Amino acid sequence: MKTVKNFRLSGKKVIIRCDFNVPIEDGKIVDDNRIVESLQTIKYCIEKGAKVILLSHLGRVKEKEDLKKNDLKVVAKRLSKLLDREVKFINKTRGNSVEKEIASLNNGDVVLLQNTRYEDLDGKKESSNDEELGKYWASLGDIFINDAFGTCHRAHASNVGIASNIKNKGIGFLIEKELNALSSLKRPSKPFIIILGGAKVSDKIGVIEKLVKKADYILIGGGMAFTFLASEGFNIGSSILDKDNIDFCKKIISEYEDKIILPVDILTNTSYMDTNSPKERLICDIGEDEMGLDVGPKTVDLFKKYLSDAKTVLWNGPLGVCEFDSFKNGTYEVLNYLVDNDIKTIVGGGDTAAVATQANLKDKLYHVSTGGGATLEYLEGKKLPGIEVME
Ligand code: AMP
Repeated sequence: MKTVKNFRLSGKKVIIRCDFNVPIEDGKIVDDNRIVESLQTIKYCIEKGAKVILLSHLGRVKEKEDLKKNDLKVVAKRLSKLLDREVKFINKTRGNSVEKEIASLNNGDVVLLQNTRYEDLDGKKESSNDEELGKYWASLGDIFINDAFGTCHRAHASNVGIASNIKNKGIGFLIEKELNALSSLKRPSKPFIIILGGAKVSDKIGVIEKLVKKADYILIGGGMAFTFLASEGFNIGSSILDKDNIDFCKKIISEYEDKIILPVDILTNTSYMDTNSPKERLICDIGEDEMGLDVGPKTVDLFKKYLSDAKTVLWNGPLGVCEFDSFKNGTYEVLNYLVDNDIKTIVGGGDTAAVATQANLKDKLYHVSTGGGATLEYLEGKKLPGIEVME
């Protein structure tokens, strides 16, 4: 597989598929990590004298009302600031104005087209990898660089479509970094410990099945722990339960009893919204109207004990409802422990990555992925279409 370094870029029109799918609230970017992670490839292309054409999706566009909130203009502004140079925003995904702007580019200039998913309004052209659209976008450049790891598990017009219609193609620095980090898990230094959390068991089944033999322990927290606890006969009150997967949990626990480590205590409240004085409960002591919203201090200590001699850690999903200050302590404490003890940790994107960023721990961890879904599918051993097409 070629990388951006394998091409002569000077004077070439280089299309870079970035992942600028950042969270935006009230028109403001609340976490620009994905833009920051894209800078290395963009800067490299600028330095080498390429004419840089950027493409990205943002959010989902199903109806007209989705257009405004998923407008990439705000990203162009932020990117321009981060690059300290003009990023010309073209408020179109195709047509005369796009072609004209591209034709007038000088070496080192940068343009960003409007959200690729604006094309979804008209028959899901981007998300269903419309043949004509992929061909059209490919026709805009000489070289295609895919650097959007977060969408590599999907075959869209802006990744697979372009790559299938252009000869010169390769991956950017970000995808290269992601693949290197994840492939180091093929033969992890042991003890290898997986931490899983988040809301649903269903999203993590593939990873558990694929990696349970390789892992020394799987520490389970977050909402998904309650389905495991329920499968063991504990009363979980009104905590979230993934009914369809109780049997799966039962089976995994019976087969790998010594490897699956569940919480021993939790913080509860009567609802998500009630963030006042959560109660500490042993798991045999959860009240009927109580909802488990974070792991408790005894569980944090227990998890630290298992992690104390870990050589490699893979983490996916927060241990509590980390959107609320009252319930992010478990996730924070374990993250801090990993950093303080310099344990090689790969965070598989999503909410856990956001917590690591908020806690200023991101740069101290071995790798924090930009793509939650893509990471999980990669770890499950699935082929990622956005990568395969580049090979
Ligand atoms: P996931 O996308 O499956 O990794 O889930 C992330 C979500 O899980 C976050 O929004 C958390 O708020 C949520 N979560 C974590 N712990 C719990 C819990 N105990 N009960 C309900 N939701 C939780």
